[in-house]
Amino acid sequence: MHSIYDLVVQRNPGEDEFHQAVREVLDSLGPVVARHPEYADARVIERICEPERQIIFRVPWVDDSGRVEIHRGFRVEFNSALGPYKGGLRFHPSVYLGIVKFLGFEQVFKNALTGMPIGGAKGGADFDPKGRSDGEVMRFCQSFMTELYRHIGEYTDVPAGDIGVGGREIGYLFGQYKRITNRYESGVLTGKGTGWGGSAVRKEATGYGTAFFVREMLRQRGESLDGRRVVVSGSGNVAIYAIEKVHEMGGTVVACSDSAGYVVDEAGIDLELLKQLKEVERARISEYAERRPGASYVAGGSIWDVPCHVALPCATENELDDAAARTLVRQGCVVVAEGANMPTTPAGVATFVDAGVLFAPGKAANAGGVATSALEMQQNASRDSWTHDHAETRLAEIMAGIHERCAAAADDYGRPGDYVLGANIAGFVRVADAMLAMGVV
Ligand code: NAP
Repeated sequence: MHSIYDLVVQRNPGEDEFHQAVREVLDSLGPVVARHPEYADARVIERICEPERQIIFRVPWVDDSGRVEIHRGFRVEFNSALGPYKGGLRFHPSVYLGIVKFLGFEQVFKNALTGMPIGGAKGGADFDPKGRSDGEVMRFCQSFMTELYRHIGEYTDVPAGDIGVGGREIGYLFGQYKRITNRYESGVLTGKGTGWGGSAVRKEATGYGTAFFVREMLRQRGESLDGRRVVVSGSGNVAIYAIEKVHEMGGTVVACSDSAGYVVDEAGIDLELLKQLKEVERARISEYAERRPGASYVAGGSIWDVPCHVALPCATENELDDAAARTLVRQGCVVVAEGANMPTTPAGVATFVDAGVLFAPGKAANAGGVATSALEMQQNASRDSWTHDHAETRLAEIMAGIHERCAAAADDYGRPGDYVLGANIAGFVRVADAMLAMGVV
């Protein structure tokens, strides 16, 4: 495994996040290869670490003042052994090839864990929609799609949202795809509006799914979220709906954040106010404390200083480091589930595992979003539209299935309760077996 990792570092210089994601998976695979030498013989791991296709393109557009802007767009089509490439688009100034490859690599295993017929991909651009007018966002999305359309399709590659890409952006992207291709190809993008091909519960799915996964982990111990004190980082799509479902399950979320700071509200986060601020006004989280009596705002700082039983990092990668993990453990945190992708640093994960914290990695705990995207594709293919209750029931079943696959793989390899090992092995084996069956392609 060390030599494969060294090769990945050498062939992908400067892509730290990608290296981190690869190492985290490779660290789990030693016992699998020892049991299944056929994977090594066919060099399946080396092949999985090399994307099938990487696309980088110019995105020129004109802002409201008439100035020409140029951004860089990406789509990394990582693995299609299980189905069409599937994974979100991220619009954020930090986006570069290494981020897209880390996210695409994670997506391969996450999608496999859902048990559904979807491969893995990720994409995006170094464009920041924050502070841009709707017209500017629309023109950017149109220019982005004017290149991307030739690489995607319902049987080829099906993008969705991620950081900075929500319902508004998916609408503009779909509109341009439809215009260029002259096809109402609903299944080419997911996260669409429910009135025009979207699925009920897609918007809520990642956050709800994370809460469902926590429920499954606690159920193994005869416990529940009822009465638990919970901290959720972020206040975007994943965070908002994780908070909503935790509250429905009887837990109380006492803190959430954005990139500028965090708020503490001992009475429990007021979701209506949070949604108004973040989904309607696109305001900063500091406004929450200004409008909500009893809440306080801390500029900067670490949200993980707030004591809790359950921590749900739902903001961004590497937001929870070892120092934060130690603070959480010292203050009584017993469950951590990653709503975001790779939010915990490797040292932080080790601290949780050593302390006996129930730890759910993102590729298992946040798979509800992509799973519901696959349900959206299913509805599009059959020109059907499910009720909210039906879609939510399917999501809950899928999350229970993912939990079961992770737990069974961890048991099978002699590490019961190790969800990191279980998720990596169960995801890998499904992809690897399909790759073996399809020969060297
Ligand atoms: P989003 O709606 O854009 O929200 C992101 C949130 O994280 C915002 O509150 C943002 O604050 C905050 N944030 C960003 N960078 C931060 C930083 N450096 N420190 C603290 N907070 C920061 O994005 P999202 O869709 O919720 O995605 C959140 C995470 O979940 C990402 O890791 C994403 O890859 C993962 N994920 C998303 C989905 C999905 O369906 N959306 C599915 C699976 C995984 P600002 O507004 O201040 O930037």
